[in-house]
Amino acid sequence: MNTVNILGVDIDNLNLRDAKDKVRDFLNDEDLKLIFTPNSEIIMDAKKDPEFKNILNNGDMVIADGIGLVYASKIRKKPLEERVTGYDLSLEILDIAAEESYNVYFLGCAEGVAEEAKRKVEEKYKNINIVGTHNGFFKGYHLGIENHPEEEAIIEEINNLDTDILFVGLGAPKQEFWLYHNRDRIKAKVAIGNGGTMDVIAEKVKRAPDFFQKFGLEWLYRLIKEPKRIKRQIKLPIFLLTILSDKESVK
Ligand code: UDP
Repeated sequence: MNTVNILGVDIDNLNLRDAKDKVRDFLNDEDLKLIFTPNSEIIMDAKKDPEFKNILNNGDMVIADGIGLVYASKIRKKPLEERVTGYDLSLEILDIAAEESYNVYFLGCAEGVAEEAKRKVEEKYKNINIVGTHNGFFKGYHLGIENHPEEEAIIEEINNLDTDILFVGLGAPKQEFWLYHNRDRIKAKVAIGNGGTMDVIAEKVKRAPDFFQKFGLEWLYRLIKEPKRIKRQIKLPIFLLTILSDKESVK
């Protein structure tokens, strides 16, 4: 497997098409496969938190969601082919689900968002099976509550509905911790921790216009829209400085 290790986290070096093919393979397997979508902010968090780093390294596919990771890989001459966002891969996964009649469950985001995302997706694909939805504020492991009946009931529902594909949008690192903790109990084939993807599908949040995406400036667009993200986004220049100052940062 071709990976680039950035500050201790192995990132798969693949393009969107490869990632989609890999999902198809995962769906033909028996056991659950976890897909994680780190950006540079998440890698900085993992650098400080060995448990989180270990969880990311246990992902079955780990894609470079942020342009910072691509820059880092190029600075250290181990170039990642391209940025593959969790959002874009999630849309490809919905394509596969619609084509091949897989059952999809949307878990996460504020009350009503997953439901609205389901409606939007059903408008686009007439035959898609979005078998269930639930908001991301139930009492569960991601909120530091273990074995709560609310969480148990959701996992039971996911399993009873024969879910093949699970979207989990609880934000990082909650979604990664939650998925890793529950991986043996979830009977789906593919689960992706995809952050605010359902917010975008439900049109609660707008993705950056093409111009910003093309020039690697999506972070700037999000900062303009939500200035309070500065606390998180300050990690991007710190990340790049860390890469520049340490020859061993990318392997
Ligand atoms: N979220 C959730 N449960 C939580 C915390 C967050 O469902 O306990 C949702 C939040 O409402 C948002 C999504 O997770 O819809 C993604 O959060 P965030 O914007 O932090 O993630 P990002 O995509 O920026 O990593």
